[in-house]
Amino acid sequence: MKTSQCLNPTVFVIFGGTGDLNMRKLAPALYNLYSDGYMPKDYAIIGTARSKLTDVQFRNTIMEGVNSFSRAGKVKKEKWDGFAENVYYNPVDVSAPETFQDLKTSIEKLKKKFGPKTQVIYYLAVAPNLFPLIAECIAKYDLAGNEENCRIVIEKPFGRDLETARELNKLLTGIFTEKQIYRIDHYLGKETVQNIMAFRFANSFLEPLWNRTYIDHVQISVTEQLGVGDRGGYYDGAGALRDMIQNHILQLLCLIGMETPINFDADEIRNKKVDVLKAMRPFGPDDIRMSTVRGQYSKGWVEGKEVPGYRSEKDVAPESNTETFAAAKFFVDNWRWQGIPFYVRTGKRLFQTSSLITIQFKDVPHQVFPAGVTEHWQQNRLIISIQPEMSIRLQVQAKRPGLDMVLNPVDMVFDYKGTYSAEAPEAYETLLLDVMIADQTQFMRADQVESAWELLMPVINAWESKTSLSFPNYPADSWGPEDAEALIARDGFHWFTLPLKNKD
Ligand code: NAP
Repeated sequence: MKTSQCLNPTVFVIFGGTGDLNMRKLAPALYNLYSDGYMPKDYAIIGTARSKLTDVQFRNTIMEGVNSFSRAGKVKKEKWDGFAENVYYNPVDVSAPETFQDLKTSIEKLKKKFGPKTQVIYYLAVAPNLFPLIAECIAKYDLAGNEENCRIVIEKPFGRDLETARELNKLLTGIFTEKQIYRIDHYLGKETVQNIMAFRFANSFLEPLWNRTYIDHVQISVTEQLGVGDRGGYYDGAGALRDMIQNHILQLLCLIGMETPINFDADEIRNKKVDVLKAMRPFGPDDIRMSTVRGQYSKGWVEGKEVPGYRSEKDVAPESNTETFAAAKFFVDNWRWQGIPFYVRTGKRLFQTSSLITIQFKDVPHQVFPAGVTEHWQQNRLIISIQPEMSIRLQVQAKRPGLDMVLNPVDMVFDYKGTYSAEAPEAYETLLLDVMIADQTQFMRADQVESAWELLMPVINAWESKTSLSFPNYPADSWGPEDAEALIARDGFHWFTLPLKNKD
């Protein structure tokens, strides 16, 4: 149970305080935590960046962020005033380490005011090339504290390949202990993602079915209608494999594939997830050819508006070889999952924005109904919809009302909106509170990150070393390249989608 009552006084230092992530996610999350009574009694938020701002200017800047992006709408004056009086700004240029001296003085002043139990949290909401510089300055100014009183939160991307991830881990673990390091993957804070564990491990009927005997295949599909937008500069050096599969999608796969943990201890859960990654079948050259697909979008029309192809987007190289779509077939080589394919796909400028996990169960062993009765026969499916709809559906066969025996697939639905009146917290609210209460369950451990990179490196290397001659190979507003359909169709399946009223 999460509660703010036992929270020690907290100084929250946000590097990249003037940036997009703070405006969109961190500041709204912290304000909502405050509004809902989850912030500690004594706390301070220090924004830092190179811009020269006063405390008041910074407060006004983030208020605009909260007003624009908070799930709870615009700030309420009284609440905001209470929140904002603990918000400060301290200019820091990470590439000029001497500017840390002022920050150190501010932190020490607050620690003195709040008392010896004060904990300091550094949130690195800056470009990844600044992560090492900040960590080194924290060490240089003796600000790294210990496991009880100091934590560091690292945004994604954590490295751009196995080697850089290892280097960053080495650097961080030379300054902090693993218990102080919070590698954030905001997907893991989403209500529906957290519910996967509740659904799997709090319901006894599922476990006997959750294996290769009853499950026929698993699909994870994270699709976006939007293009690369203003993020071309970052995205063109990353691509769909790095941006989505290495982190979010493999973490979802771990939640579906993991063994039952002994308890809810952070390391126990992360051990079970790492076991899945370690059991995943490595890609050989033939597997890359047969079991992976890459794509890049061309121009097209979305909701009546013409949209540019990827290579014409801002800050994208005109001959870019970066994939905006990736699909792959994985296997988890252990007793539970041997031989069961896990298909994953993700991409930009696709027909629909949605994140779905589909578990398709094996067909009945013997068909007792005559052919005419089973016209719309459909194997049982469990569909976990993460966004935009938040639901879990079990698709079963049922008799259609009437004098004749006709079978139809129907959905048994648990829909968050219909079941609960309270609004779900944003993923960042959940995760920031987890950092404050020192719960690492939803954060990636060093070995998780490295195992995920290790698995994907052969594909990344193959795709980078061989320019795709077919790019661009799917139009905007489609479901991606035809090869992705073939990848799954070869095994007799098709990608599952939910018909959504509002495509976005
Ligand atoms: P951004 O808008 O470009 O913000 C970068 C921040 O870093 C600004 O506050 C900038 O402020 C500061 N900065 C740049 N150089 C600095 C220096 N030398 N010393 C101190 N501060 C410096 O980037 P962002 O979108 O917020 O992303 C930040 C991180 O979060 C990235 O790693 C990104 O991958 C990750 N992320 C972002 C999102 C998102 O929704 N935006 C989502 C997931 C992950 P000044 O120019 O004033 O110094």
